[in-house]
Amino acid sequence: MSRIVYLNGAWLEETEAKVSVFDRGFLFADAIYEVTAVIGGKLIEYAGHAARLKRSLSALGIPQPVSDEALLALHREIVARNGLAEGLIYLQVSRGAEDRDFVFSGDLAPTLVMFTQAKAVLGNPKWQTGISVITWPEGRWVNRQVKTVQLLYSSLAKMEAKKAGADDVFLVEDGLVTEASSANAHIVTKEGVLVTRPLSNALLHGITRGSVLDLAARAGVPVEERAFSVQEAQDAAEAFITSASAFVMPVVSIDGRPVGEGRPGQVSRRLLDIYIEDRLASAI
Ligand code: PMP
Repeated sequence: MSRIVYLNGAWLEETEAKVSVFDRGFLFADAIYEVTAVIGGKLIEYAGHAARLKRSLSALGIPQPVSDEALLALHREIVARNGLAEGLIYLQVSRGAEDRDFVFSGDLAPTLVMFTQAKAVLGNPKWQTGISVITWPEGRWVNRQVKTVQLLYSSLAKMEAKKAGADDVFLVEDGLVTEASSANAHIVTKEGVLVTRPLSNALLHGITRGSVLDLAARAGVPVEERAFSVQEAQDAAEAFITSASAFVMPVVSIDGRPVGEGRPGQVSRRLLDIYIEDRLASAI
């Protein structure tokens, strides 16, 4: 089924939507993005994604292409135009197009692209089995809190995981886990403490991460924000990753070593259930 995508003010068949070869998103990865889940035709965590979009734009000095109200209206309209019941909305803003030059003009009109991906978000079969990860050296740029489209390193790392028969990577810097290729990483210690790396430029400030930490604290799960090592993760009772598309995904092995009992743990399961319940209730 052909999708209707949004490009700079126009609704177009996906095959008709074209971006200039001079777009700085294409030439310099000079662009930022957001991915928002849709369930029952409603937006999950919209406010968080819209707020982070603003932070990413302002970090790169790209003007927000449309007003806050228009942005929400576009999200609603793309859901309606595509009859999207469940899936993802991908949004990208690049600095715009001009002749190739490292030095860019201050007054470029940003390129705004949005498209949908219909897929099952609820009932992910991997929630039952958990996923396996391999460790991989952190090699991304230093401003990982900005959600840029510079995803080549993460993509290649994930391909290495696939080659090794695993699902994802834990990226490791100075012996400490930063995050997964496209999700935040967390562990639950044998004492039942949820340990997660504190926010800094070392990792993306995941919207799901923030909500899960709040919900965990409310559910009486102690939360400690500190970096953890690979060894600590392998010795933990549970490990899991969070993202807008996978929610709370158990990690059951790291570099071939089982985490805890080698199957999804109770805390991860409970957090997934609470997260789904809470976020469905607050979907807009
Ligand atoms: N870290 C990275 C590197 C990511 O790409 C993502 C998701 N795009 C996340 C964390 C999770 O963020 P969120 O919960 O906002 O999807």
